[in-house]
Amino acid sequence: MALKALDIYKLLPKKNCKECGDPTCLTFAMKLAGGKSDVDLCPYLDEQAKTVLGATTRPPIKLVKIGVGERSFAVGEEFVLYRHEKTFYHPPGILFKVSDTQTPDEIIAVTKRVKSESFTRVGSDLQFNGIAIENTSGSAEPFARAVEMVEKVADLPLVLISTSVPALSAAMVYCGTYRPLIHAATTATYKEMCSLARQHGCPLAIRAQTLDELGELVKKCATEGVPDLVLDLAPTSLNDFIVRSTSIRHLAISRSAPELGYPVYVDTTGGGMEDAMIALGIVKYASVIVTSPLSPGSAKAALTLRQNIYTDPQKPIQMNPGLYRVGTPDKDAPVLMTVNFSLTFFTLQGYLESSRIPCFMLIVDTEGLSVLTAVAAGKLSEVLVRDSIRKFGVEQEVSHRKLIIPGYASPLSGRIEEATGWKVLVGPRDAAEIGDFLHEEWKKHVG
Ligand code: SF4
Repeated sequence: MALKALDIYKLLPKKNCKECGDPTCLTFAMKLAGGKSDVDLCPYLDEQAKTVLGATTRPPIKLVKIGVGERSFAVGEEFVLYRHEKTFYHPPGILFKVSDTQTPDEIIAVTKRVKSESFTRVGSDLQFNGIAIENTSGSAEPFARAVEMVEKVADLPLVLISTSVPALSAAMVYCGTYRPLIHAATTATYKEMCSLARQHGCPLAIRAQTLDELGELVKKCATEGVPDLVLDLAPTSLNDFIVRSTSIRHLAISRSAPELGYPVYVDTTGGGMEDAMIALGIVKYASVIVTSPLSPGSAKAALTLRQNIYTDPQKPIQMNPGLYRVGTPDKDAPVLMTVNFSLTFFTLQGYLESSRIPCFMLIVDTEGLSVLTAVAAGKLSEVLVRDSIRKFGVEQEVSHRKLIIPGYASPLSGRIEEATGWKVLVGPRDAAEIGDFLHEEWKKHVG
């Protein structure tokens, strides 16, 4: 069980010396209770207190970084079982798998794709995270060559998949300083694998058939001096993965089995139903997901799902309020007012671009609420619209005084006209109809 701030405070030395970076012991205790600081920052804690506090205040799932600098991603450090309880913080890294038995052209094509492919959705550029290279040949030389090839083409986070320590050692010559994830140590190989991970300061995946075995293996690797671990649950089916991954998350979050508090790894390439496995991995707690190079449709679906699951459910995705241009609008261009809920903005923007009528989008601050919700909650008002017109200088941008408002904001049309002095045109409720509206209704009003 996690300790409350006051319980933590009782265990602190109460010197208020600020050496931990906090102004008082109490603020330090509050941060520890929220998992936002570390007991090691207080130099006056004795070992016993550190052990007690460390076990209860550190994040239940360890943060593990794969790669270095810009070519890295961090996973773990999650605090809840269900997204709606708080939020999920670290989206899983999704890596495309290549094999050392593929031709150089094939390996290079996949690597270049991961490096350059990007898909923009609700204002964010979504990308895959890296390359997993499998030692299918079983030999060191082709494996090292494949890793060298990937390294030459792109500086991406890597997973090196092999059961052979000599093959992994040979590959490390080309990427050892970039902290690839080594996959995977087993009960039979953990000593050699740990030695390799320690030598290069790399994270290590460990693989076992049961949770008990995994827990034991974690302890052994910790004793061998490898702190950054990732758990491969070796699932045999979709169902098997859900059961094991959910159990691990539950045991880690409740701190019933702190030794299982590490990010989870899943390889979706075996056994068919890859799209389903990727979706389950994203939703049910996988932190490193290795896939085959996905078709464009599957790639978009995976990136979209990951973006959705890893946005904070308590904070609508918002645009900055302001005046946005679509195309190159002139003084006669229409002005369309709407809310700063990202999905509304990007949906409307897409339809406006398709209409090929240059225009202005006046985005007002409804704290990320959609039009219907903002009207119902009183967040969208005539005062807000009037102030936004002034604040963003709309009057200087156009020569007319006509404002198109969303169909769902029609109850406010009269009040907006009175407050702003602008003529209000009520647009369609469905953004998909805005093109027709501009071509037909707007043109009537501008003659
Ligand atoms: Fe208190 Fe320790 Fe922080 Fe000093 S370093 S303020 S004693 S918690």
